[in-house]
Formats: sequence, C-alpha cells, structure tokens
Amino acid sequence: MPSSSLPDLNTLWLKWTDVCNNCLRQSDFYGAIAAVFHLNAVFGDENRVEINSEKYDELTKENVKARCKICNEETTQNEMSTQTISTDYITRCLTGEDKETVWTCSNCRSTNTLKTTEFIREKFNSPRYLGVIPEPPTRKRGIAGYKSFEFAAKNWVRHAQDEISYSFGIERREYVPKVDRDDIADNDDNN
Ligand SMILES: [Zn+2]
Repeated sequence: MPSSSLPDLNTLWLKWTDVCNNCLRQSDFYGAIAAVFHLNAVFGDENRVEINSEKYDELTKENVKARCKICNEETTQNEMSTQTISTDYITRCLTGEDKETVWTCSNCRSTNTLKTTEFIREKFNSPRYLGVIPEPPTRKRGIAGYKSFEFAAKNWVRHAQDEISYSFGIERREYVPKVDRDDIADNDDNN
C-alpha cells in the first residue's frame, strides 16, 4: 500500500526529480545522488528500488557453461573442476603438447579436454527493470578520479532514475484512493 496519497507522491516526485536534474546540470553529482535517495524514499517499501551492489552483480552477471562432448549436457563454471594430465601418445604427436587440461562432466562423468570444449555464454537478458541498482560510485583522488567519477555518477543517476520511474508507474497503478479504501473496509465489515 502506498505510504502517501497520490497527489502527495506526485508532488514529492516532481520536487526530487527537479532537484536531481538541477544538480546534474550544475555538476553537483553528490547532490544528484542524494536526490535519488530522496526520490526512492517517496515509495512504500514494496515498490522502493533496492540499492544493493552485491545483489545487482549477482542478477546481471554472465553465466558461462561448458558443453560435454559425450552427452551434450551443460556444466556451469562453478561445478567445473579442471585438472592437468599427461597427454597420450597420439595427442602428443598431433599437438606436440605433453600436458593438457581436462574437466569432468557432472552428468556422465566423461573427461573433456578444455581446449576443444564449447562454452555457452548466457548473457543476462533483461527483464529490463530489476528493482535493484548498485550502490552509487564514490570519487577517487585526483583529476582522473574526478573525470571517472563524473562519468560513473551520471550513469548511475540515469540508471537509478530509470528504475525508480518504473517503480513509480507501479505505485500509481496500485494506488487506491482513500475513499475507495474506506468503501472496501466497509464492505469487509458487512460481510
Ligand atoms: Zn557428459
């Protein structure tokens, strides 16, 4: 349930969006970041965007899997353990290598050679809105630090605004005016 009435939400929303954009125009990046926090605080707990770098990284990381040559099953990188073994006579003749790295399929227990393994990269594919964003960047020392901070801060603020706008859309759709809420409560009492 939203914490404030819709007109209140709209007013707060406009206010903090305005502050945020003004700060960006004036290159006050810490101000813009602070405004994002205020903007996010406008919502009830359910629709507030979570600010959590670890969770964000986990949700957006690329998943790499190796395909077994024998059974075609995929083994994730976490399940994969590799070992280096001495090559057999034919491999040695063909490749000139004394040793090779192999891994064992978690499904059929066959040994696969790492060099010839097919890897599948599962790119994180959006749901574009995750409800989670990373923590804001902080500035490192020096002029180079300032430049990279400026870039990272602008990106972070835009990304955050985007996510929070999406939450705001949900909050608006879910909003039940107070009059209707009372009606629902009355009906519940009568039943
Ligand atoms: Zn296998």
